[in-house]
Amino acid sequence: MRLLLVEDDLDLASALTDALKRHGVTGDHAATAADADLMLQTASYAAVLLDLGLPDDDGLTVVRALRRRNDPIPVIILSAREDVEDRIGGLDAGADDYLAKPFAVEELLARLRAVMRRPPVVQPRVLAHGNLRYDPELRELDVEGTAVPLSQREAELMELLLRRIGRTVPRALAEDQLFGLESAVGSNALEVYVHRLRRKLDGAGASLGIETVRGIGYLLREAA
Ligand code: CA
Repeated sequence: MRLLLVEDDLDLASALTDALKRHGVTGDHAATAADADLMLQTASYAAVLLDLGLPDDDGLTVVRALRRRNDPIPVIILSAREDVEDRIGGLDAGADDYLAKPFAVEELLARLRAVMRRPPVVQPRVLAHGNLRYDPELRELDVEGTAVPLSQREAELMELLLRRIGRTVPRALAEDQLFGLESAVGSNALEVYVHRLRRKLDGAGASLGIETVRGIGYLLREAA
């Protein structure tokens, strides 16, 4: 199970990440509402743990943005704000639960199990556009029903482009997602994967193609 932890208190974030890891739960971390929003649009998580007092915006804007996109991902608000109005505000914004700091990790885990047992609003697991279908969990792509084998990074790139179909994926974002914090990545490494994926899509007769948006990034859309 992989979570997104949104928390600007870095000490708390790392303590919580460590505690969760001891219970077999791994997580990514975002320290601002903007980062959280971007990560939630480009990767898939089992749940979100969300602080409300973030440096750039109220955490509630993250929940509202998720629900506007009809994303049913469970959200648990972790906040020092204990007022009843804040709890109601959080739940009204679309959060699933609310835990006041400080809390015991065991309680957080119990709440997580509870929100994840709730039947989610049905969300298609497979991303389908044009004649292309991609299963993010199995990392399987098919075009017109024919499997197109992808390497792990090609698959990550495919998912990223599909999740932002019709919108340009900035280079920096793609590099972050594909290579993370690896420092020894050559400046043209991303191009190499784009080139390979583009060739596979073209070779399989995909109705979607990857366009280069000069100076900005890449865009997946219906091939002209
Ligand atoms: Ca905070």
